[in-house]
Amino acid sequence: MGKEDQKTKISERRRFFTHLAQNVGLGVMGGLLWAGYASKAKSSPLTLRPPAALEEEDFLRTCIKCGLCSEACFNRPSNIDKETGKQRPATLKMAKAEDDVTIGTPFFKPRDVPCYMCEDIPCVPVCPTGALDVKKVTNKAGKLDPTMMDMGIAVVDHNACIAFWGIQCDACYRACPLMDKAITLEYDRNARTGKHAFLKPVVHMNDCTGCGLCEKACVTEKAAIYVLPRNIALGRPGAHYVKGWDTKDQQRIRERVDKDVTTHDIRSSRKPQDYLNDMDILEN
Ligand code: SF4
Ligand code: SF4
Ligand code: SF4
Repeated sequence: MGKEDQKTKISERRRFFTHLAQNVGLGVMGGLLWAGYASKAKSSPLTLRPPAALEEEDFLRTCIKCGLCSEACFNRPSNIDKETGKQRPATLKMAKAEDDVTIGTPFFKPRDVPCYMCEDIPCVPVCPTGALDVKKVTNKAGKLDPTMMDMGIAVVDHNACIAFWGIQCDACYRACPLMDKAITLEYDRNARTGKHAFLKPVVHMNDCTGCGLCEKACVTEKAAIYVLPRNIALGRPGAHYVKGWDTKDQQRIRERVDKDVTTHDIRSSRKPQDYLNDMDILEN
């Protein structure tokens, strides 16, 4: 083999390895990009969905990402700024890659744009798949009812809320469309000064819709009242705890006892020692 042939071979080999390295590099980068994309496929548990959305798993299975809800929200007549005559941003946004939400699905961030609890709830009936379920916001009279929305629940940070310091502020209370139902002001004596009063905002879980108008109105730098999805904000005591004063709870227990086993059955068939040594009885 001549010197020239050798040189050509070496340069071909170099080119081959350079291409290989570039392709491997691109492959690795593609893998990283895909991993990044896949991580965006799952929404943050703090995601707030539009009114009447199904439970998250069913919602993701049902929503076809058409954007009609967001479009209806943007085009609602009440979305026109009276001063400028221009349309304001929609409450419902369709998630992009930079959002911590499954790409293409609708969500909202109350501190940016809250839900205005529109009387005719235009975002819900336009959903073609039932991912937003009209039944969830239809009352017994067959009318759409914004008070039946449950997008989340407002939570007050007692340390950051200045009303808990004794400073007079009722911005969240006044912003609430369900004032005195979903949110009330609770009077308390300020023992520190001995002569002032606290007026503390208290949210009521059965009436709060999670619209976030309170969060938007909060005067603190980072909102001291904010909306969380109900499954994140609320605890679950378990079916074995019963409220003696709650008729629904009483009914639940009556139905359970009728269906299962009576206290008399347990007492008559087992000794106390058996009961203590055999915890299976609690599971049966
Ligand atoms: S009810 Fe809320 S989310 Fe629906 S259109 Fe009105 S502002 Fe938008
Ligand atoms: S209208 Fe329904 S299916 Fe379309 S993006 Fe909104 S929730 Fe999803
Ligand atoms: S989220 Fe706030 S403004 Fe909306 S209903 Fe609940 S307490 Fe009222």
